[in-house]
Amino acid sequence: MVSKEEIFRNLESVRALIPEGVGLVAVSKFQPAEAIRDAYEAGQRTFGESRVLELLEKIPQLPADINWHFIGHLQTNKVKMLIGKTALIESVDSNRLLDVIQDCSTKAGIKTDILLQVHVAREETKFGFLPEELKSFFRERTDRKYTHINFRGLMAMATNTDDETVVRKDFATVADLFREVKTQLAPDLADFQTLSMGMSGDWPIAVEEGANLVRIGSAIFGER
Ligand SMILES: *Cc1c(COP(=O)(O)O)cnc(C)c1O
Repeated sequence: MVSKEEIFRNLESVRALIPEGVGLVAVSKFQPAEAIRDAYEAGQRTFGESRVLELLEKIPQLPADINWHFIGHLQTNKVKMLIGKTALIESVDSNRLLDVIQDCSTKAGIKTDILLQVHVAREETKFGFLPEELKSFFRERTDRKYTHINFRGLMAMATNTDDETVVRKDFATVADLFREVKTQLAPDLADFQTLSMGMSGDWPIAVEEGANLVRIGSAIFGER
């Protein structure tokens, strides 16, 4: 684990580089609550976690005004535990998951904010809607079905490669899709404003391509 001073310094240098209007999710997965507290003391309020049980363990140990973003693959049988605990579920990757979130949110009497995850990376292991699936989803969407879901935007990861051309192309594909949904497929969704793309190694490219939320872990907390 890196020192508090280092976390402060890292956060400061990341913040200095991120343009105005771009939000920062400090990805704290696998980091102890202590490290999150250090970043909190440096003013960071939004953190990203990728495992439900890990998140549920951390929440009571940390200040209540933290905005927790869930960014990992979410199993449908864990949705019930997560509902009401997150500011944003960024990684909604299937229709089935969406249905379960709708169901659990309805039962809990709350509306859940989500991003739909887009699969553009050239890796089988990544989750998400293919761009064509996402377009069909919005073409076929009926408002009445998702009464307890607030569609806030899209999330994506680029191909894990040093080839900048490939990474840029992935981000550009998602940014195009984001604009198409916003302006043509679902102009009625007033809160559809967030494009979450970019991690420690590729976030400047993501921002150049139009991301307005970046998810940065190791550049703040050190290697996991
Ligand atoms: C781990 C993770 C990140 C952060 O990755 P770093 O390379 O540590 O910045 C961002 N997004 C998702 C979805 C992740 O799982």
